[in-house]
Amino acid sequence: PPAIRIDNLVKRYAPPKGASEDEGKLALKGVSFDVPQGQIFGLLGPNGAGKSTLINILAGLVNKTSGTAEIWGFDIDESPRNAKRSIGIVPQEIVFDPFFTPFEVLENQGGFYGIPAALRKSEELLRAVHLADKRDAYARTLSGGMKRRLLVAKAMVHSPPILVLDEPTAGVDVELRRQLWELVTGLNDEGVTVVLTTHYLEEAEQLCDRIAIINHGEVIADKPTRELVGMA
Ligand code: ADP
Ligand code: ADP
Repeated sequence: PPAIRIDNLVKRYAPPKGASEDEGKLALKGVSFDVPQGQIFGLLGPNGAGKSTLINILAGLVNKTSGTAEIWGFDIDESPRNAKRSIGIVPQEIVFDPFFTPFEVLENQGGFYGIPAALRKSEELLRAVHLADKRDAYARTLSGGMKRRLLVAKAMVHSPPILVLDEPTAGVDVELRRQLWELVTGLNDEGVTVVLTTHYLEEAEQLCDRIAIINHGEVIADKPTRELVGMA
């Protein structure tokens, strides 16, 4: 099976109190795509298109209304633990305890996944994201770019075969954007399947093997990057 299979996926959020069910926001209107193992797949679309909703369904944080969402052939709702093990999520928001150090952030995350202390690879991950020299600094003293790199390391603590990044470079300067791209392509070279959302065409072009354009909860194009760019 593909790393990720999304078929006719529908998400309707709960309506405001007192409103009827069909007044709930229809965020995904029957979305379908497969992500084969080893690909860097980009979901490109404007704000409000439904990108975060999709990511949150993959992360097991939001329940789908109907349709299929599978990881390696396993339904995400039916096997949430399998999904959690298979996917590392790099969220849009930077969420660290400001008085934790990068090393502690990764050790804690390892504990969260039940990885025994002796088998954790926090130091190795810090080196991979070029934060070895910040091992014991308070997270609040890190630059925005360092925090983003720490988020990527945190998502990789349990060595997931799939990495999902929600708008990894939103509001990030050019230099840092390049650093993050290198980090992502490096992980992909090591075999990690990558899904990322973005509203920058340039980012999708530079980074992705394939791009799906999503708008108003619908996929309106889904092509290898070369073909898509050729069309424009
Ligand atoms: P994107 O990530 O592409 O900006 P989202 O998935 O965040 O898009 O949002 C898709 C649509 O669903 C938007 O209209 C948004 O307002 C709506 N939406 C997102 N989250 C919720 C929620 N928790 N409750 C109701 N509507 C939501
Ligand atoms: P709880 O159910 O105990 O609140 P959460 O699901 O909120 O646990 O996750 C706890 C921590 O693990 C949070 O920091 C969250 O961001 C992180 N986390 C959860 N799932 C993943 C994942 N698949 N990849 C990376 N981090 C994750």
